[in-house]
Amino acid sequence: MAENFEIAFLGTGSPLISAERCGAGQVVVAGGRNVLVDLGWGAARRLIPAGVMPSSIDTLLFTHMHTDHITDFPDFLFLRWTAGATTPLTIYGPAGTKETVDGFMAALRLDIGFRLAHHAGKLHPDGIRCNVIELPTTAAATRFAEIDGIGIDAFEVDHFPVVPAFGYRVSFDGRTVVLSGDTSFCQSLLEASRGADMLICEAMNRPMLDQQMAFLRGAGRTLQASLFEDVPSYHISTPEIAGLARDANIGELVLSHIIPPIGTDAASVAGFTTGMSDIYTGPITVAKDTQRIAVTRR
Ligand SMILES: [Zn+2]
Ligand SMILES: [Zn+2]
Repeated sequence: MAENFEIAFLGTGSPLISAERCGAGQVVVAGGRNVLVDLGWGAARRLIPAGVMPSSIDTLLFTHMHTDHITDFPDFLFLRWTAGATTPLTIYGPAGTKETVDGFMAALRLDIGFRLAHHAGKLHPDGIRCNVIELPTTAAATRFAEIDGIGIDAFEVDHFPVVPAFGYRVSFDGRTVVLSGDTSFCQSLLEASRGADMLICEAMNRPMLDQQMAFLRGAGRTLQASLFEDVPSYHISTPEIAGLARDANIGELVLSHIIPPIGTDAASVAGFTTGMSDIYTGPITVAKDTQRIAVTRR
């Protein structure tokens, strides 16, 4: 019988405000292990509703150092600690991860002292510690960890000027899922995705984004409108994703990091994915926060 292999989606949004979609975060649930990928705003509070105990996570992967992927790190760390973690958290990420984690830990130093003093002897001092491992930047997917049969590879994606930015490829029990991270269309994502059972891809619907830009301009919010103009240069559009999924022969496509944020109703989802099925004929899902999707053999 196939072993359990699922993705729990914590946040399926971006930096753009959404009541329904938090910042980026997902948990790879494989066998008895949970590997966390990214922790954007609001993602930590989704862990328990998504069925994942914070103390069950010993490994965290960061894709890049944008706020919508990192700012729930302190809240996660405290949830994990107070849920009973007794060992340090291992954190993998691109160059810059150590500087970011060190900065968070400096900000938390006083609070950690207060908690240890107040809950004398109850919280394990190792449960709030972190080991950071910065990974080399390689265009080709490169294996850096094997955890109880879970093989994890990193590859560089193109999120310029965010350099380096990573995607991850996770293999378990003969199945493979690729997580794009934030990226424009790039050859390294196509190569890393080849033959994967599932691609979890960030996604931008350009006509919908243009509509929001026009709305902002009409409302006199010229700064926001001009910031929106910069968004397409480092994100991948829905037709580009469909073309990549077709060319890489992906078993199943799941969209997350939805730009602009949309509701979870069928009409919004259909509007967001318009035209994709004309290019890629496999299943396409727009993920929702707290949803769990099984990685099945194609
Ligand atoms: Zn992002
Ligand atoms: Zn980003």
